[in-house]
Amino acid sequence: MDRLGEKNVAIVSGASRGIGRAIALKLAKSGYDIAMIAAHDNERAQMTLKEVKAYADQSSFFECNVANPVQVAKTLEEIKARYTDFDVLVNNAGITRDKLLLSLSEEDIASVIDVNLLGTIYMTKACLKTFLRKKSGSIVNISSIVGLTGNVGQANYAASKAGIIGFTKSVAKEYGKKNIRCNAVAPGFIETDMTDLMSDEARKNIFEKIALARLGQADEVANLVNFLVSDQASYITGQTISIDGGL
Ligand code: NAP
Repeated sequence: MDRLGEKNVAIVSGASRGIGRAIALKLAKSGYDIAMIAAHDNERAQMTLKEVKAYADQSSFFECNVANPVQVAKTLEEIKARYTDFDVLVNNAGITRDKLLLSLSEEDIASVIDVNLLGTIYMTKACLKTFLRKKSGSIVNISSIVGLTGNVGQANYAASKAGIIGFTKSVAKEYGKKNIRCNAVAPGFIETDMTDLMSDEARKNIFEKIALARLGQADEVANLVNFLVSDQASYITGQTISIDGGL
């Protein structure tokens, strides 16, 4: 396949659905070709790819478990083979396994840390050489408000999302001099498959705590990510920006 090189390219993990899909669509509308990553190459992923391609026709999909460093390295080689360069990385892939700490199995703990935190670290490390060579790059890591506040039933998830915040600040400090920016976004409760899992009671309790009295939309998070990766945010790095409707 010929290498492509006319447009800027953004890598978005967890792009098949939910917030990642909205980010891929928004960045495609902003002029990026998108290298979409998700765990499964299924009908939903292909449907999203089709939607994204309507705005950025050289976009493509890569099946990759971000928690597996061998798969991450292989996928990055495939992305580099397809595109001359890439400019943006959005680490959005994430999972939950919600239970009280005493009920969490080792697998519940490890899988959430592996995908959410280690996946973010592996993906970022794999992209850094390209950003260093280009002397520019923008990374946005999707954390969560729960990484800042903690939450009952989400100790594993909160630890993974708090880890992302420390990682983001460290990358910003290590590579700022090389014109690489790294920020985190901390969404509150956004309407996706992930929050569909919530019980009606949990939903009611949360509504009462949100100043705007509604769940957020994936598009609203995508707008923030679009701003952070753009030149309009050229002096913002190492930050964690909450988007939670005033939770
Ligand atoms: P979602 O609808 O459940 O989608 C999750 C995405 O991550 C899917 O594309 C999924 O791919 C991908 N993914 C899961 N495990 C993966 C793996 N091992 N390797 C590669 N991709 C993987 O989730 P969402 O609600 O959009 O959440 C997106 C991000 O925002 C997550 O990091 C989440 O923690 C964070 N967040 C969400 C909320 C919220 O209220 N929804 C709030 C705060 C933070 P497949 O389709 O192939 O499974």
